[in-house]
Amino acid sequence: KNLVVAIDGYSSCGKSTLAKALAKKLGFIYIDSGAMYRAVTLYFIRNHVNANDHDAVTDALQHIELNFHSRDYESHITLNGEEVSEEIRKMPVSENVSEVSAIKEVRKEMVRQQQRMGKSKNIVMDGRDIGTTVFEDAQVKFFMTADPKIRAERRFKELQSKGDTETSLEDVFENLAHRDYADTTRKESPLVRAEDAIILDNTDITPEEQLEFALNKVTP
Ligand code: C5P
Repeated sequence: KNLVVAIDGYSSCGKSTLAKALAKKLGFIYIDSGAMYRAVTLYFIRNHVNANDHDAVTDALQHIELNFHSRDYESHITLNGEEVSEEIRKMPVSENVSEVSAIKEVRKEMVRQQQRMGKSKNIVMDGRDIGTTVFEDAQVKFFMTADPKIRAERRFKELQSKGDTETSLEDVFENLAHRDYADTTRKESPLVRAEDAIILDNTDITPEEQLEFALNKVTP
C-alpha cells in the first residue's frame, strides 16, 4: 500500500518547508492543499463569485481546473492552465481564503481531488484537515505549531522578498490571527489536531532539526 504523510497546523508555521524537505528526502510527491484553496479563492475574486450564493459557487467549481507541476519539489499550481503560484501568495488571496475555504461545496470538491491524488502514490500533503478528513488513515501525521510572532515575522520577510512593500508586519500578524481563528472555528472540518498526530512545535528549532525529527517518525 502507498504511504501518506499528513502535515496539519496553523498558518505559516513551516508546514510547507517541512513537507517539501520530507518529500524530497523520501522521494514522495508533495501536495500543497492550501494552494488549491488559494487558487479557488483567486478565481472567486477575479470572477466576483459570491461565497453566499450556492448556485454561483457550484457553477464556479465546474469551471475551475487545478493542476500541480512539481519542479525540484517546489510545487507550482495552475488555474485553468495559468501559472498562479505567485499570485495566490499575495494579500488579496490571503485575506479571502478563509471565507472561501469554509464553503461546504468547495471543501467537498477539494477533498475529492486530494484523495484522488493520494490514492496510489506515496505523498506528503500539508493543510488543515489532512489527518482528520482527507486521509484519516494516513500512516504518519504531524501537527505543527509555532509562536505567532515568529510566524508573522517569517511570512512578512517572505512577502518583502517578493517585493511587497505595502503590507506591514502588523497586517501579516492580523491576517494570521484571523485565519487561525476562522480555520479553527468553522463548521466544515475545522482545524483540529488528529488524536494520533505527532505535535511538532518549531518555534525554537531549525528546519534541519525538524526534518530529522520527522524522518525518524516516518522511518523509525
Ligand atoms: O496553507 P495555507 O496557509 O496556504 O492555506 C491557506 C488557507 O486555506 C488556510 O488559511 C485555510 O483557510 C485553507 N485551507 C483549508 N484546508 C486545507 C488547506 C488550507 O481550509 N487543507
